[in-house]
Amino acid sequence: MSKEGLLLVISGPSGAGKGTICQGLLKRDESICLSISCTTRQPRTGEQDGVNYFFLKKGDFEKLIEEDQLLEYAQVYDNYYGTPRSYVLDKLQRGEDVILEIDIQGAMQIKQKFPQGVLVFIVPPCLSILRERLTKRGTDSMESIEKRLHSVCEELTHTERYDYLVVNDNLEQALDQVEAIIRAEKSRPYRF
Ligand code: 5GP
Repeated sequence: MSKEGLLLVISGPSGAGKGTICQGLLKRDESICLSISCTTRQPRTGEQDGVNYFFLKKGDFEKLIEEDQLLEYAQVYDNYYGTPRSYVLDKLQRGEDVILEIDIQGAMQIKQKFPQGVLVFIVPPCLSILRERLTKRGTDSMESIEKRLHSVCEELTHTERYDYLVVNDNLEQALDQVEAIIRAEKSRPYRF
């Protein structure tokens, strides 16, 4: 009888609203835990150490890597980001569900280490609208749209590696969808 908690990975391009979705999930279900990542990037206005991230110096982050204290880590925009190992493993072992809001490099590491982890990719609504227009127009203004959305599209090429895709057109509906994914995944026979 395995009573391990569910490990839910949320990724998506900037502007997709993944942070808002994670906060919404926590509000709807207080028993879910959100892992706080370590990063070497500077705090933005309003961000607090130990709340949004653990803000570390590069040397301190590299020490965590050497000591194998990170479940996964990646370099994103010239900075390190990583998930503290013991926090996540302790919660899962206690049967608590844990959300990781991490990039695709981290998500793939998690998939390798935790095949039972559930990977959800959040797609921004503006992109889906633009993609729809692009398809309808055919060759029309393809290049300019491609340029503007280049980084977003690059990330979208990896969505097949995720278990689920959620289009964040409407926050409440997107939350309903992620909650349904959690419920379904927790109903899998091997989780009992
Ligand atoms: P930001 O600097 O805007 O907070 O985050 C930049 C990117 O890093 C986002 O895609 C975010 O999901 C990702 N990220 C945040 N924490 C982690 C982490 O612990 N591991 C990995 N691999 N990516 C992370």
